[in-house]
Amino acid sequence: MNKFPRPVRELVSMFERLPGIGPKTAIRLTFYLFQTPPHFVQDFARAMVEMKQKLKTCSICYNIDETDPCRICRDNQRDKSVICVVEKPLDILAIEETGSFKGVYHVLGGVINPLLHIGPDDLFIAPLLERVKKSTPSIKEVIIATDPTMEGEATALYLKKALGKIKPDLKISRIGHGLPMGADLDYADPGTLAEALKGRRSY
Ligand SMILES: [Zn+2]
Repeated sequence: MNKFPRPVRELVSMFERLPGIGPKTAIRLTFYLFQTPPHFVQDFARAMVEMKQKLKTCSICYNIDETDPCRICRDNQRDKSVICVVEKPLDILAIEETGSFKGVYHVLGGVINPLLHIGPDDLFIAPLLERVKKSTPSIKEVIIATDPTMEGEATALYLKKALGKIKPDLKISRIGHGLPMGADLDYADPGTLAEALKGRRSY
């Protein structure tokens, strides 16, 4: 790395902090950008800054949108008595793509992962419990749609226990049917995901 001029080293190390980008790709991208016309780099930088400035986290469901509450929480056609719990905003897009869910969502912001020191308090679990406790109309069902990974299952189990404690008559279900173990929800194809939702089992 020391063989490169300082501005190159700086950008390479920024790229390397992005998921899925190793040192070689980081260097390739940096040199690619150097060769593009100046306005491209300016537009690129502006798009990144604007994305960060204009996107908001929904104060109800923790989805990401241009407005707070997000467009799903504001939509009166949605069934507010059914909450689908997902790990991240991208999972909402994947489920919306199936067109088979008309309830609302709750984003956890990750999963419980002892190895990475991520506990329940690091996720938006407390706001979910508050929501289930206080929401009007009252919540009838919570569908837990965390990924079918070890951490996703552990998080689902934790949620089931916590939700059952605060609202014993709540219907709790878990998607999974047809989703391979270790799958990532936002990579699942809409057909499989729609089946997984339809075939959710009582949990
Ligand atoms: Zn929302």
